[in-house]
Amino acid sequence: MIFSHVLGVPRIGLNRELKFALERHWRGEIDEPALEALGRRLRAERWAEQRAAGLDYVTVGDFAWYDHVAQHVLMLGCEPARMGFGPQDSELARHFRLGRGQAARPADGAGQAAAAGHPALEMTKWFDTNYHYLVPEFGPDTAFRLASHRLLDEVREAQALGHPVKPVLLGPLSFLWLGKGQAAGFDRLSLLDRLLPVYLELLTRLGALGLNWVQIDEPILGLELPAAWREAFPRAYARLQPAQMALMLCSYFAPLGDRLALACSLPVAGLHVDGVRAPQELEAVAALLPQERELSVGLIDGRNIWRSDLDQLLPRLRTLHRLRQGRLWLAPSCSLLHVPLSLSDDAQVDAGVRPWLAGAQEKLDELRLLKTALCQGEQAVAGAWAASRAACAARRADPRLRRPAVAARLAALQPADEARHRPHAERAAMQQARLGLPLLPTTTIGSFPQTAEIRAARAARRAGTLDAAGYEALLRQILADTLQRQDALGLDVLVHGEAERNDMVEFFGEQLAGYTFSAKGWVQSYGSRCVKPPILYGDVERPQAMTVAWASQAQALSRKPVKGMLTGPVTMLQWSFVRDDQPRETTALQLALALRDEVRDLEAAGIAIIQIDEPALREGLPLPRSAWDDYLRWATRAFRLTAGGVGDATQIHTHMCYAEFSDILDSIVALDADVITLETSRSGMTLLDDFGGSAYPNDIGPGVYDIHSPRVPAREEVLHLLRRALAVIPPQRLWVNPDCGLKTRGWPETEAALRVMVEAARTLRAEL
Ligand code: GLN
Ligand code: ZN
Repeated sequence: MIFSHVLGVPRIGLNRELKFALERHWRGEIDEPALEALGRRLRAERWAEQRAAGLDYVTVGDFAWYDHVAQHVLMLGCEPARMGFGPQDSELARHFRLGRGQAARPADGAGQAAAAGHPALEMTKWFDTNYHYLVPEFGPDTAFRLASHRLLDEVREAQALGHPVKPVLLGPLSFLWLGKGQAAGFDRLSLLDRLLPVYLELLTRLGALGLNWVQIDEPILGLELPAAWREAFPRAYARLQPAQMALMLCSYFAPLGDRLALACSLPVAGLHVDGVRAPQELEAVAALLPQERELSVGLIDGRNIWRSDLDQLLPRLRTLHRLRQGRLWLAPSCSLLHVPLSLSDDAQVDAGVRPWLAGAQEKLDELRLLKTALCQGEQAVAGAWAASRAACAARRADPRLRRPAVAARLAALQPADEARHRPHAERAAMQQARLGLPLLPTTTIGSFPQTAEIRAARAARRAGTLDAAGYEALLRQILADTLQRQDALGLDVLVHGEAERNDMVEFFGEQLAGYTFSAKGWVQSYGSRCVKPPILYGDVERPQAMTVAWASQAQALSRKPVKGMLTGPVTMLQWSFVRDDQPRETTALQLALALRDEVRDLEAAGIAIIQIDEPALREGLPLPRSAWDDYLRWATRAFRLTAGGVGDATQIHTHMCYAEFSDILDSIVALDADVITLETSRSGMTLLDDFGGSAYPNDIGPGVYDIHSPRVPAREEVLHLLRRALAVIPPQRLWVNPDCGLKTRGWPETEAALRVMVEAARTLRAEL
């Protein structure tokens, strides 16, 4: 018997219907019943696709209004008391408050009472994906109860449409692991015994709906877990047995590693493993998993957008099928949440590349082909099989995949290409002689407000109602205005403001050979937010300079130094869909070479300071710790190659945000940027514990205010943060800047905040 299923599918809809409906609802334009109706429609569409692809079950419970982890918080009745939920709050309202918080409201004197504010749950990355989940909060008082029937209702909804259903749950151990203790040192695992009865009850209720299978996701099996967590698995799953539901336990995103035997021995009816991230483990699992259990293998990549090479997968599946004595489940490697719903007729993707791509719908079709081929032979689907084979062959043969000059350049690299000539201390003196900056120089991270005017002009340009000359003229005018405002504020190192950039990756991708773009390749990032990663399909080359004209134009307008502004190779890699036919390392180094040329061109144009942003350096870390060193080796090499081609009097900056950096500090030091600016203000500068003293030897600009809210910091707050910084960083090495770019802010608060920042720097300078 061959079964096929998916672990989950995208929620947002082909045209981002969910996003737009959510945002309308939040603006008060549509009510809950209207939203619920859309949810039912989207779910029904996805289920119908799954059935059309011949899947044996439709997956129910992967849909979530904002986030599936938040949905589990509601279902398991463990919302933190601080959310202030009352009986009048509907489940949807609660869900949105978990995700978006609620602002405080003063009494309005007209009968409307004052209401306290409720900050949202914290948000963090779902494993190594770009999806962000809401972090459950746990403490000694956390209690659980089955508090929502939504999952049961959705099961009935699918059943009413005539579908065989397999609901999905996040497993109890992953749920606890992904949360955080409200107080430091709180052991989340201590809640397991309280949580399991609720899972048991839920499973029993699902069983009463006549279901055979429940998918239970335990992605933490891919992590190197502490012993206590590993040991909790057999105990937990033994406790769930009385529900008498067949559980399909799912691991994904990483090899099982030393949890492999554990995963195979758990008292569950089936095990799913990620055959894309851990192909080397498949046969071991097939051998070890008792024959009466079901093995589900994910050989179709749920994390990337390439069409599968079916001719390559089929023999592997046949082997596994044999090893499992004729029983096998087929699935994508993980939930398809992380790929666009469809790419098959995206008009914007390069027409030559389009047939190589597979979004979620196309991956469902691949499942159908593989299942049919395994059961009846490829000839049963000969036409579609041949088309798939032809697309893969066309991809392999495309000359744009291999540009000999790029490979030759990579092969010829010398260690000296990666290094500046002199050590930082000597470079710093040369740079200072050239730049003549005051102590505690003030600067910004790059972008200035992307105003409605800029966005409208970009939309008009895209629609063709504004011509290139008109668009450029407007951007030049905005650039001049941005420079003038910075001069007036008295900032020491200026930027051109990035008004021409829609997105820090797309802007560069559009100018590099080897990239293509989709119009509708949206992937949910969090809540209603989606990203549309560019598609890197071939060897990367830079046909011409990308930023030099903007930087030179800005520099010509001011006597102060203007920073050139680039996105680094690792961030370009991390925020794109990248090719799977060569190691990520090779792609990163190709990007580095293209950016290195840009750095040198900026230098040749007289730009004295060049910033290479790497906000995604930290998030590129592989899940298994054992793979960190290798990643950090090539990631730092890519940065050093990008920066290493300039003279010592040229100052290289880098910028990082969204992360904690303490565990990769050595690698950040190894980048050898002359200046690093970091997001810190939200962490109260605890980051200085790591970067202070001699731990970080080069210059450093810890962000002095949070740019994520329009709030203007008080002068005392900024002074306080800077004094704390000065306690551990000598004034000769300290810079003063906001946390991150200012593109999401408006001008009034931006200017007010920067005025405070510049004043604070001046005050401190006078004291030094
Ligand atoms: N230079 C970019 C900007 O200011 C950096 C963005 C980022 O760190 N994510 O917008
Ligand atoms: Zn940033």
